[in-house]
Amino acid sequence: MSGARIAHRMAILGVGLIGSSLALAARRHGLVDEVVGCARSAETRQTALDRGIVDAATADPAEAAAGADIVMFATPLSAYAGLAEAIAPVLKPESIVTDVGSAKQSVIRDIGPFVPDRVHFVPGHPVAGTEKSGPEAGFAELFEDRWTILTPPPGTDRDAVERVSALWKAVGAMVEEMDPRHHDRVLAITSHLPHLIAYTIVSTASDLESDERQEVIKFAAGGFRDFTRIAGSDPVMWRDIFLDNREAVLDVLQRFNEDITALQRAIRWGEGEVLADRFDRARQIRTGVIEAHQAGSFDPREPEKAAPAASDPQAPSHPGSEGEP
Ligand code: NAP
Repeated sequence: MSGARIAHRMAILGVGLIGSSLALAARRHGLVDEVVGCARSAETRQTALDRGIVDAATADPAEAAAGADIVMFATPLSAYAGLAEAIAPVLKPESIVTDVGSAKQSVIRDIGPFVPDRVHFVPGHPVAGTEKSGPEAGFAELFEDRWTILTPPPGTDRDAVERVSALWKAVGAMVEEMDPRHHDRVLAITSHLPHLIAYTIVSTASDLESDERQEVIKFAAGGFRDFTRIAGSDPVMWRDIFLDNREAVLDVLQRFNEDITALQRAIRWGEGEVLADRFDRARQIRTGVIEAHQAGSFDPREPEKAAPAASDPQAPSHPGSEGEP
């Protein structure tokens, strides 16, 4: 992790979990001289000031972006286009507009048209997070040993891409560049579909609890508890992700439905070998995730735990490890 200064002034539009974590990390590592935050509510701005996340906070995105060398979008995706339009007139020549959004084609669609000539646009996505939100939830270690994916459009200034890459590397991340469409397809299966499944299981269980008096909450240990944690993620953020990555999510959902129907059939007809084969393949993938050091908690302040034995359905699993979109 280098401590080389990357920008004099960084504006963060949206000082929630991701924006505040980046601001805290950038300040800790001396990467910027000044951070200006933008949020709508006075409460968010005050918390960001009180926690030392930002030097100054404003509700006006143009005021935050004026004079900034790097402008980082970190609000829910549905706010991006309006913010981009609002800040466009004040952006400094040779400054960089970048973001942390969980879908990338929609970000290019929403921000791209407003980026003036001589301002560089480098979309990005840190694949790190928890189910918590707001400036209280941020912590400087969030991005350590996690991937950040950059999806610069063709022809993007290479120096600008390298600067954004250097920023993420300096806060502990590993960086990879990707085509935005490919990004959206990969994240649809690794993150977006799992969240959709978690939201669905928890609401199905909650309906069962009220309809049939099943004791869902009381016996929530094991798998269900982990689903409730994922389903505790911010509803607005996730609404935006599904709407903005609609095509890729619908595609993987179709394949998932076919696979689950095959399992349903195997259960119905007592085809144990089909089930065991499928579970064995899934277990091997889990082993691969552990070996890639991507299985533990995203919060390094939580102690790393051993992976639960696959044969023990009651074994505790890693807290916070699948909350990232
Ligand atoms: P969050 O904790 O809910 O923070 C979003 C912040 O944006 C809030 O503090 C909110 O404050 C502010 N905000 C909302 N609308 C705004 C507007 N129009 N203008 C200015 N500020 C506004 O969300 P997050 O988890 O950090 O997610 C932010 C982005 O990161 C999303 O695009 C998401 O896709 C991406 N992302 C999230 C994760 C994750 O695990 N959470 C991981 C990777 C990427 P006010 O309500 O006070 O305005």
